[in-house]
This record gives sequence, C-alpha cells and structure tokens, in this order.
Amino acid sequence: MRVLIIGGGMAGWTLAGLLLRRDITPTIVERAEEYSRVGFWIGLYPFSANTLRETGVYDRYATGSLAQEHYVMRDSSGTDLQDMSFAEVLGRIHGFMGGLQRADLLDILRTGGDGADVRMGTTVTALEQTDDIVHVTFSDATTGEFDVVLACDGIHSATRTLLTGDPQQGLTDWGYTAFTWWTPRQDAIANNCVEYWGAGGLFGLYPLTDRINAIAGMPTPDGLADMSQEQIVTAVRQHFADYPESVQTALAHAADDTVFPWAMVDQKAHEWIHGRVALVGDAATGFLPTAGVGASNAIKSAAVLADELGRADASTIPLALNLWEQRVRAKVEANQAASRTLAKMMFVKGHTVAKVRDTMLKHYPVEKVAKDVLHSNTQAW
Ligand SMILES: Cc1cc2nc3c(=O)[nH]c(=O)nc-3n(C[C@H](O)[C@H](O)[C@H](O)COP(=O)(O)OP(=O)(O)OC[C@H]3O[C@@H](n4cnc5c(N)ncnc54)[C@H](O)[C@@H]3O)c2cc1C
Repeated sequence: MRVLIIGGGMAGWTLAGLLLRRDITPTIVERAEEYSRVGFWIGLYPFSANTLRETGVYDRYATGSLAQEHYVMRDSSGTDLQDMSFAEVLGRIHGFMGGLQRADLLDILRTGGDGADVRMGTTVTALEQTDDIVHVTFSDATTGEFDVVLACDGIHSATRTLLTGDPQQGLTDWGYTAFTWWTPRQDAIANNCVEYWGAGGLFGLYPLTDRINAIAGMPTPDGLADMSQEQIVTAVRQHFADYPESVQTALAHAADDTVFPWAMVDQKAHEWIHGRVALVGDAATGFLPTAGVGASNAIKSAAVLADELGRADASTIPLALNLWEQRVRAKVEANQAASRTLAKMMFVKGHTVAKVRDTMLKHYPVEKVAKDVLHSNTQAW
C-alpha cells in the first residue's frame, strides 16, 4: 500500500509509527525545513497517550512528562471555584494526565515513526485522483502515485484548501488571542493546572517539571500584527493588573521570554474524506485549547485510522476510510463541542455576567461541561 502523509505533526507521526508496525512504509512530506523547539505545554489524556505503547515510546513519554495533579479553577480575585483531582476523575486504571512541551512530544512520536520515508521542506501543490489512485505533485516539481493520501497538515490545512477551494472553510475566529510564554515554577502552583477566570480574560498556569507555561487569553488587541514585544507585554500586564500574586509573578517574567500570540481559531471541516484523500487531526477538526484536548484527539484519531488501514489492501482503502470516520468523527466533534462550551463560559465580557458564571461554576462541576472529553477515556474508539 503506497501511503502519503502530508504534515509531520502529532497525527502524521502517530500514523507513521503505527503503519510501520503494520508493514506499511509511508512517505511523509513536512513543510518545515527542520523541526524547531516552537510550541508550549501540551496536555495528553490517557485515552490518547496509551497509543504510544504500540510504537514502544510510552516509557519515554511517562518519564518525560509531568503528571498533572489537580485542575484548579479560581475567579480573578483568586478564590477557588473548583478543584478537581485528575487522579480521581480519570481513575487509576485509565492512566494519568500528562503535561509536556510540544517539541518533546513530537520528538517522542518521531522516534516511534523511525523508518518512514521523510521529505522535509516539501509540500503538495496538486492532487488528482481516479477511483484507484492519487497523482500528487510536490513543491519541488516531482510527482508520485499513491493509494491513499492522509492530510495531517494542521488547522490551516493547505490540502483542505486544495480539495475544497476554500481556505476559510469551517474556520471560526473567536476574537480572542492567547498570549503564551515560559515562566519559572511557583510553589503555590506545584503540579496543578491553575486557571483564573475573569471578565474578558483567562489566565492559565500549566506546569512542567522545570517551568510553567503561562497563557493569558484576552480579546485580540487592535493592531496586534504591528505591535512590538514590548507593547504586547505592556498590554497583557495591563489587562491582568488586578489578578492575584501567582499571575503577577508570571507577568513579571513575561519580558524574559518571547511572548507568542496564539489566535483563538478553531475549525470544523465539512467533509473528512474526498475519495482516497482523508483529512486527519486538526485538518479535519481543529481545536481551541480550552479543554486541552487537540493533540489527544489528533493522536487517537490517527491510531484508529492506522488500525483500519492495517486491515485493508489498496482496493479496500475507501471502505477503511469510511469505517474510520464512523468510529471517530462523532467523538472528535463532541470533544470540539466541549471545548467550545468552555470557551463560551471563559470568554464572557461583563463583570456582572462573570459573577453569575462564577456563582454557577461553584455548583456545576467542570467534569460535567467536559464530560465528553473525560468519557473519551472509557469509550471504545
Ligand atoms: C508550531 C506549532 C506549535 C504549537 N504549539 C502548541 C502548544 O504549545 N500547545 C498546544 O496545546 N498545541 C499547540 N499546537 C497545536 C497542536 O500541536 C495541534 O493542535 C495538535 O497536536 C493537532 O495535531 P495535528 O497533527 O493535527 O497538527 P499539527 O501538530 O499542527 O501538525 C501539522 C504539521 O503539518 C505541517 N504542515 C503544515 N502545512 C503543511 C503543508 N502544506 N505541507 C506539509 N506539511 C505541512 C506543520 O509544519 C506541522 O508539522 C501547535 C501547533 C504547531 C504547528
């Protein structure tokens, strides 16, 4: 079976590793010339992390990530609204909620996919298909023929645009930007994900063993594209000036690092499958980071696809793609819906509305809002 994977990210490398174990050697084309350390904290739920066992890299993940102990939600004055123990909610038999740097997770997945045919600095410029074959033209003007093409090229998938002709299809801009940077560990945060929910703002602290990822979500400032780092740091400090000490400590370190603006955009593709080309991971359903479940869905979805392709031959690929979509799409979209519900609750603007929300949150556990995400650990995919 000749398999082309477009995009060597979370989904792409998961697929590569699992297909290799099914005696299929895929070709991966990756746009980047080389992998960098770009990226911040990624949370991985056990329903996804357990996939890493099959490619022999789970132990590296287990030792290289930090088990997140509690999810703590506070209001903007620092009063606890909720405190959820990951161990209690996920249960001993499911595994742990791990936090690690995106670049480290990618390194781990790439080790699992060692042996794939990788072409860095390459994209796809044209796709043409018959019932039996996909003809591909690459950015270096070479061509190739494949039995199936798996587009794992992320939320702004160029493959999706090639297939639909619409670069905006399914994209929703939520009008917020999450500014993110690294900051030193704080005893008060320990190994907990701590979030401060305010009016028109959310400040999150997500720990690793040696540092914390600070994320400051606020309405996208006018003229952001032209703002200097200094102006960005000033705007973020002003927005969260009244928040408690842990936030101020993180804000004090904002100027020590590059503050990266991450537009709060998600994506829901209309069709996942176009003949013998499938959209996988964020290219099919791209997530807001509000439930921390984007990487988990990309990895798990890729694992199910490898499972179905492992039972197919070149002639039955369309059936395998169809069975894969039946197994995963509703679950992935339910997780996206949970991320959107959380976003609507986080991104309220007025103080009065925020107070009503905070009162409600004291009595309505976040487990209920994120029940589809948490149930992913106990459902068959
Ligand atoms: C640089 C970067 C940093 C990120 N940082 C974080 C973070 O800190 N925290 C977090 O929770 N999530 C982060 N994300 C998002 C998160 O990693 C993904 O949402 C999630 O893992 C989905 O995985 P995916 O495989 O679908 O897409 P991704 O992991 O985004 O992988 C897509 C891959 O495709 C490549 N690509 C894109 N276009 C093309 C093309 N035309 N041709 C070939 N290759 C292409 C990209 O370079 C990338 O390697 C980041 C994503 C990126 C790309």
